[in-house]
Amino acid sequence: MSENVSEQFDVIIVGGGPAGLAAGLYAARMKLSAVLLERGPLGGQLLNTELIEDYPGFESILGSDLAVRMGDHARNFGLDIREFQSVAEIDVAGDGTKVVRLEDGSELVAPALVMAAGGLPRRLGVPGEEEFAGRGVSYCAVCDGAFFKRQELAVVGGGDAALEEGDFLTRYASKVYIIHRRDQFRAQPVLQDRARANPKIEFILEAQVREIAGDQAVQRIRYVQRGEEKELQVGGVFIFVGFLPNSGLIKAHIDHDEAGYLLTDRNTQTSIEGLWAVGDVRAQLTKQIATAVGDGTTAAVAASQHVEQLKDRERRASVA
Ligand code: NAP
Repeated sequence: MSENVSEQFDVIIVGGGPAGLAAGLYAARMKLSAVLLERGPLGGQLLNTELIEDYPGFESILGSDLAVRMGDHARNFGLDIREFQSVAEIDVAGDGTKVVRLEDGSELVAPALVMAAGGLPRRLGVPGEEEFAGRGVSYCAVCDGAFFKRQELAVVGGGDAALEEGDFLTRYASKVYIIHRRDQFRAQPVLQDRARANPKIEFILEAQVREIAGDQAVQRIRYVQRGEEKELQVGGVFIFVGFLPNSGLIKAHIDHDEAGYLLTDRNTQTSIEGLWAVGDVRAQLTKQIATAVGDGTTAAVAASQHVEQLKDRERRASVA
């Protein structure tokens, strides 16, 4: 263990989205001493989603409202929630203790850690993307859509996020072009139907974006469609081409797939004993709020058993 003075907990939860908040709620309710660290405000991907219509029991709720409710719920059961705390690295000591170092130099330790750090939007990797980030290139329709009133916009991608956010952007934009590299969408049929029924949406299929260009801000996007080079005048480009899991914070060797998602057993424990991975950072079929909450619940129950077993072992060792 480190020589720094460390704060000690039963369980440390890294990440304050639905997965982490569910883990925190259950852990606190099971009377573990639990702390949740979030580098921004609570909510994770909930804050990048406007209306949520697929979380059971809530026919329609704002992402930001659900985030506040989940946070208050966990806090009321005694979870120590620390927002705006950036984790620099997570290590595992020789005795299995999980050591979390924060950017501010402080350190927290626990026998159990729930990794719920989600991920970041994948970059498209074309010229102009970095240059115009924040000046017309965005990865969050809810955050930036209102800046593009009555403008024509491009959305890149063909998954749930592209179709859902493209539809959302038509509240502000006069037109939204959804540019996708194939002629089939990965998105759920319900989202495809909704986008097709929206008169402000036009699809540009089998098209690869080559460049985002402009002067002070984005003015056009260049792409190749079935071998032909084309250009579109747009005021903004919203990129939804997937997600990169935040698994790199863990310094110890941990099993992951080729995309960096953490591999777990059926109780969401990773290849490191006492370290669980939940929500979007875990390799699994979907990234839904409901599955994230389920993951967090399973991890908290498993972590509680782990902590109890360790305490039991210590008790028996001290009487022997
Ligand atoms: P995704 O499902 O991985 O889709 C990424 C899309 O981007 C795909 O259409 C992919 O094309 C395209 N793409 C990837 N790399 C590209 C590149 N270099 N150039 C051009 N296109 C590229 O990602 P997502 O839409 O962000 O969704 C992530 C997860 O969140 C999914 O599990 C999704 O179900 C979930 N989600 C759910 C909801 C909801 O239920 N309402 C909303 C948002 C997100 P190909 O299809 O050709 O591979």
